[in-house]
Amino acid sequence: MTHAKRLGMDAFTIELLDGISGGGEAPAELAAEVGRLFAAARDAQRTGPIVELFRALVDAKRRPGIGFEAFGMSRDALEELCGRHCSIDEHGVTVGGRVGRAAAVVEAANPRVADYLARRDVEAPSGVELWDELCANARRIRDVLGMSEEDWNSFSGQLRFAVNDVETLARCLDLPESAIRDVARVTGTYRMRLTPYYASLVRRGVANDPVLLQCVPTAEMVDNVGVELPPVASDHSPARLVDQFYPRVVAVKVTNMCAMYCTHCLRIAHIGRADRMFSREAYAEALDYIRANDSIRDVLITGGDAFMLPNETLRWLLGELDAIDHVRVKRLGTRVPVTTPQRVDSELLDILAASDDRGPVRVVTQINTAQEITPVSRDAFRRLSRHVSAVLNQAVLLRGINDSRVKMWKLCETIHEAYVRPYYVFNCSYRNPQYAHMRVPIERGRDIIEGMYGNISGDAIPRYIAAAGGKIPLHRDNVAGRGADGAVFLHKPWNGEEAVYPDADPDLYGNDADFAFNRYMGERKA
Ligand SMILES: *Cc1c(COP(=O)(O)O)cnc(C)c1O
Ligand code: SF4
Repeated sequence: MTHAKRLGMDAFTIELLDGISGGGEAPAELAAEVGRLFAAARDAQRTGPIVELFRALVDAKRRPGIGFEAFGMSRDALEELCGRHCSIDEHGVTVGGRVGRAAAVVEAANPRVADYLARRDVEAPSGVELWDELCANARRIRDVLGMSEEDWNSFSGQLRFAVNDVETLARCLDLPESAIRDVARVTGTYRMRLTPYYASLVRRGVANDPVLLQCVPTAEMVDNVGVELPPVASDHSPARLVDQFYPRVVAVKVTNMCAMYCTHCLRIAHIGRADRMFSREAYAEALDYIRANDSIRDVLITGGDAFMLPNETLRWLLGELDAIDHVRVKRLGTRVPVTTPQRVDSELLDILAASDDRGPVRVVTQINTAQEITPVSRDAFRRLSRHVSAVLNQAVLLRGINDSRVKMWKLCETIHEAYVRPYYVFNCSYRNPQYAHMRVPIERGRDIIEGMYGNISGDAIPRYIAAAGGKIPLHRDNVAGRGADGAVFLHKPWNGEEAVYPDADPDLYGNDADFAFNRYMGERKA
């Protein structure tokens, strides 16, 4: 850039200088302060003092209404400073751009998240923030159940002392008697299981605690009326244990067990009433199907919960899949790192890393509230993230649990900080009338998810999905229309502004003969 060009004022700087010019009566104190800033800016080798001077001049013009001439400065002197600022800045940003525009852009953006920032830690505290309180819960529950510290810290101990019955539940959590009576009624039909660790995440004295809602069934589950639709497998299972919606991805339901049974479980029919071990023959039939269909590229090991498989079975299964040439990537569906993070030990991590070396392994988990992220689960995810190629979250949009901007944004930011990438948010399914009371209207879901654009990191924004024989995105269409010149009008979700976005030139796009090296082809032939 030439010196002349550097000094040539850009439109933003001209606008700024015009805006701060003028006379007035400068009070002595202000004049001294501005004089000091001017001297510092004149000697500066950095942009900071120059920016500071111009900010002060903007303030002086805004509040007492005093222009720079009143401080005895000339426009030439200020233009000189502007030129120097631009030459120091690596990106050639001008004073007009920085002071006159950028500050205003940030100022206009900040209110969009002000409400979230003010409310997030009160309305949606994370398990990390609540850790002292949750540890006190843990001590109490451990004593009630008679668990040793070793029991508490091991996966086998957590399962051995899991809360399956309403009497034990009543001893671990303080629930109203009428609620306990209803739990007894519901568990006559549906199963309940809380690991002691997961039970310790329930906050005492919070009626609809977001963790409690997920693990202790309520009366609505049996009182909701409606027709239960057949489970997904009934018309999507081409082979034993296999569910298939897509040509290149299949799910294999390797177990019906979970460490904790969710009160909103989509696979309730598959979970059934009792834990079952599946035979090697069943797995073999599923593997035969995958082996015989070479369009299958991605295999989801799910359940139930993939991490309920013993390490040996998991090692064998991943080995079998890795031996199939067309299976290139594997996914493991598990909530265990959330409900029982004690499961994530070095043997499991080694098994995952060994398979990941042969082809990417992704762990897909389900975290629905920031309260489920504690220092313990965060550490489990940290270690997982170092042994597999990605850890992704599939949350379910659930009433009272994550059905507000504050709760869902906090969830997404908290898991993002816990080494987990938000992947999907599922709308709670219509298939099971048991969960009708947990459902959230789609418009609300859209507002919550769309509201994230521009306000939180892009890779902390999940896709909003309706599952209906495959996953259908529910995102609002941001293409608002098209101009006569072919440009599209795009809608900025964060402030409602319209952006005019010129489309690819159809004449260029249609002209294959001249595209890139094609244009030389005739020449070569000639
Ligand atoms: C969720 C699911 C998949 C995977 O879908 P993606 O969009 O690839 O995450 C595949 N098969 C079944 C049966 C599923 O439920
Ligand atoms: S972890 Fe998944 S499969 Fe298991 S109960 Fe919860 S939602 Fe159902």
